[in-house]
Amino acid sequence: MDLYEYQGKELFARFGIPVSDGRLATSPEEARAAAEELGGQVVVKAQVLTGGRGKAGGIKLSDGPEEAEAAATDILGLDIRGHVVRKLWIEKASDIAKEYYLSVTFDRGEKKPLFMLTTQGGVDIEEVAERSPEALARLHIDPLVGFQPYQARWLCFTAGVDDPDEQKQVIALVARLYEAFVGCDAMLCEVNPLIVTPDGEVRALDSKFTVDDNALFRHPDIGEMRDLEAADPQERLAGEKGVTYVKLDGEIGILGNGAGLVMSTLDVIDQAGGRAANFCDLGGGGDAQGVVDALDVITSDPQVRGILFNIFGGITRCDEVARGILEALDRMTIELPIVVRLDGTNAEEGRAMLAEAPHDNLHVEETMLSAAERVVELAGGS
Ligand code: GDP
Ligand code: MN
Repeated sequence: MDLYEYQGKELFARFGIPVSDGRLATSPEEARAAAEELGGQVVVKAQVLTGGRGKAGGIKLSDGPEEAEAAATDILGLDIRGHVVRKLWIEKASDIAKEYYLSVTFDRGEKKPLFMLTTQGGVDIEEVAERSPEALARLHIDPLVGFQPYQARWLCFTAGVDDPDEQKQVIALVARLYEAFVGCDAMLCEVNPLIVTPDGEVRALDSKFTVDDNALFRHPDIGEMRDLEAADPQERLAGEKGVTYVKLDGEIGILGNGAGLVMSTLDVIDQAGGRAANFCDLGGGGDAQGVVDALDVITSDPQVRGILFNIFGGITRCDEVARGILEALDRMTIELPIVVRLDGTNAEEGRAMLAEAPHDNLHVEETMLSAAERVVELAGGS
C-alpha cells in the first residue's frame, strides 16, 4: 500500500524524523486558510500516488494566502500521469542549501533491507545510479543482526557528507528511518530530497512510503490511511470482500484456485485470442460464499463478456467447487457465458454435477486450452 506524502510524513514525525509543519486542503479556500495559519511563505503540493510532481507542475511556492489559493486552484484537478489531484498538502516553505537523497527499501534479491544515500538528491535516483554510481552509497542491513550505528556512519562517509554537524543529523535520521521501516513493516521509505537548510538543519522535504499489505493487520491505523476513492471500484469491492483480485483491461473474467494456475490461465486466454479482464484467485477456497463474492466482483466490471473458472482440485475437491458454483448461480443471476474447467481430485463427479445443472449459460470443458477457446468464442472474442 502506497501512502501519500503527507501520510508518510506523519509516520516520519512519529519516529522523530524532522519534517515541516503543514496542513491538508481539498479546496482553494482551505489552502488559503492553511497558508494563513502557517504564516509566511508556503509550498502547495499535489497529493497523488506518483512521483515527479514538481516537473508536472504539481508543486508551487507561494508568498502568502492569496498566492496559495491561486496555486491550489491551478493544481486541484490536474492530471499527473493518470492521477487526478484531489488533495493538497500546504507546507511551511523551506530554504534549501543542499538536496540529498536517502532511502531504505526491501531488496528481494538479497532478502535484506537496502539503504541508499547520495548527496546528489532532488533528481531521479535512477539517473544518479546511471550517471555517477560512485556517488551512491549502498548498504544492506542484516535483518537478524539489525541496524548498527556504524552503518549510518559508513553511509555518510561513503556518500561524502563531510560537515560534522550534518553528519550527526544524518546519522540520527538514518537510524530513525530504519526504525520507521521496520516498525511500520514498510517495503520502501524514501526521502528525496533530504534537505540541508542554510542554517545547517537537515529535514525530510518529501516522503515516499510503501507498507507491506500483508502486514496491515498489525497496523490498523495505517490501514485506515488507504484512500478508497483513489482505488479502482472493482478493486475496492474486492478488498471489502477479501477477494484476491487484480483488474486487467480485457473481456474474459477469470477465476482460478492458486496464483500459478491463474497466471497460466492468463497465458492460455491470450493463446486463444482473448484478453483477460482480471486476475482472481479463489485460493484454497471454493465454497459458495467465496464463489459468490468473486463473481460479484467480476460481474461488476462492465467490460466482462465471459467467465472462465479454471480449477485444479488438490486441497479443494472438484465436487465441492462445483457445488459452490451451482449454489452461487442459484443465489445470483448471471447471463454471461460461464465455462468451467475442472481437473484433479473428484473432477468427474464435479463435471457431472455441472453438466446436469439447468443453466444454459454454463459449459464444462476438460482441458485448459479447450476451456479458454470456448469462453473466448462464447464471449464473441476477437
Ligand atoms: P516530487 O517532484 O514529486 O518528488 O516532489 P518533491 O516534494 O520532492 O518536490 C520537488 C521539488 O520542489 C524539490 O526537489 C524542491 O526543489 C522543490 N520544493 C519542494 N518543497 C520546497 C520548499 O519548501 N522550498 C523550496 N525552496 N523548494 C521546495
Ligand atoms: Mn521528491
